[in-house]
Amino acid sequence: MSSTSSPATTALADPAIDQEMRLRIADQLGARFNGDFIGPDHADYSDARSVWNAMVDKRPGAILRCTSTEDVVAAVSVARANGLPPSIRCGGHSVSGKALAERGLTIDMSGMRAVTVDAERRLVHVGGGCLLGDVDEATARHGLIVPAGIMSETGVAGLALGGGIGWFSRKHGLTCDQFISLELVLASGEVIEVSATEHPELFWALKGGGGNFGVVTRFTFRAYSFGPMMRVGVSLYEPEDAAQALRDYASIVPTLPRTVGWHAALKHDMPALPFVPPEMVGRRLLMLISMWLDDADDPAGVELVERLATVGQPCVKATTVMPFAARVQKVIDEEFEDGHRYYTKEAHVLELADQAIDTLVAFWKDMPMQGEVEIIGLGGAIADVPEDATAFSNRDYLLWLNFAMRWDDPANDRDYIDRTRKIVGDLKPWIGKGIYVNMLNFDEMDRVVEAFGGPEKYARLGRVKAQYDPENFFRMNYNITPLPSQPVSAG
Ligand SMILES: Cc1cc2nc3c(=O)[nH]c(=O)nc-3n(C[C@H](O)[C@H](O)[C@H](O)COP(=O)(O)OP(=O)(O)OC[C@H]3O[C@@H](n4cnc5c(N)ncnc54)[C@H](O)[C@@H]3O)c2cc1C
Repeated sequence: MSSTSSPATTALADPAIDQEMRLRIADQLGARFNGDFIGPDHADYSDARSVWNAMVDKRPGAILRCTSTEDVVAAVSVARANGLPPSIRCGGHSVSGKALAERGLTIDMSGMRAVTVDAERRLVHVGGGCLLGDVDEATARHGLIVPAGIMSETGVAGLALGGGIGWFSRKHGLTCDQFISLELVLASGEVIEVSATEHPELFWALKGGGGNFGVVTRFTFRAYSFGPMMRVGVSLYEPEDAAQALRDYASIVPTLPRTVGWHAALKHDMPALPFVPPEMVGRRLLMLISMWLDDADDPAGVELVERLATVGQPCVKATTVMPFAARVQKVIDEEFEDGHRYYTKEAHVLELADQAIDTLVAFWKDMPMQGEVEIIGLGGAIADVPEDATAFSNRDYLLWLNFAMRWDDPANDRDYIDRTRKIVGDLKPWIGKGIYVNMLNFDEMDRVVEAFGGPEKYARLGRVKAQYDPENFFRMNYNITPLPSQPVSAG
């Protein structure tokens, strides 16, 4: 389904912002707005319009960097007054660049990065512009974590509103499963608190429905005791030993307790990670990494992490204990830093069969682009939550596949994108239904309904949208079109 097909979508034009409109917006904002008004002439414009993926080259007409809920209310109100459906930016990691509105208005949340930890009640209040690293750093001081992603630079808001998978998902579930309440600025400018008891249907929709319903200015998450140290085991494999190691991996994963996460990365060139000997840096290697999600000194964890590191014929194996927030969460930050050209494809694995492994390994051995093919071991607590309990869908998969391809020369765009599409096509017999909404790419806009769990769930989301954003003001996203309830006919 096209995200631009609904009449509600066409009711608002998407005008380009020119200098005259910028002056008008500045005038309308007046003293209500204490953030930064960043137009093309502003010193921060270049940085503010840069996102993770350098293939995204959008030039917003105005970027309103907010510092408070009042700023967001003012930004929403001027956007509405000028018929400008805003994009919302948090960490800028949307793979297709949804954070920015081409020549339009972007509400930039990066001025709202406060984190407050209520250690006694295990609650964490997180500003709508925080990165994962902000939360990890604040919670680590109290021996707590909020389950989120696998690196420090992803935005909390985009990740959590789409679901949020990561190292702790097997033990505690998704990031959106940890929502206690959210402060939300609606299209009308009204500020509401959303929780299981206040606006419960909207609360359901925010757990996976993305930025469709308003701007989240504050999340309150449930936190868990952890660390600060994490037990980690790593094994590296030469290409000729990779297929056997992955076969062992595929057979062991279903037997594991939920206190461990075990993941595979087929790396084009091994980065200089803490446990990688210098002679292995830059080599094409498979890495298996296990993480014990409980007490780092638990003998059961020591034994299991050691055992997993010896699977197959590793050329290097290491087990270690590292601070989670300060090290583990930053291990791949550099490898996937902002500013390179990236193309990603996510798929849910139905079965990691021998033939699928062979197909994958053959692709990886020849793959010219940098980056990695990731197999992420999930399952566990994710599937404890019933499928219809949240907008997030497809909780039953044990393994998720992600192609995270990286390069720098634009001349390679076509070839490298085609290669990635082809391998995903070749793997189709082993791929399950659905796609993670947070990994939808620019060429997958026809999969939006599928990403939101199919027509029935999409329709339920559409009814929530019709209630809280009937004009589809927030549509610079993986869009849910408003679906007004059918009037009940008399008699
Ligand atoms: C390098 C990398 C690593 C990743 N790792 C993980 C991972 O470990 N786990 C995982 O689940 N996903 C991961 N992702 C996917 C990630 O969840 C999505 O890209 C997500 O959209 C990123 O959120 P962001 O805030 O950084 O993005 P942005 O591009 O800033 O925002 C994306 C969208 O989120 C919405 N949004 C942002 N802020 C707000 C707000 N305050 N209120 C309402 N809506 C808002 C808007 O619709 C916006 O278009 C990763 C992506 C990348 C590029």
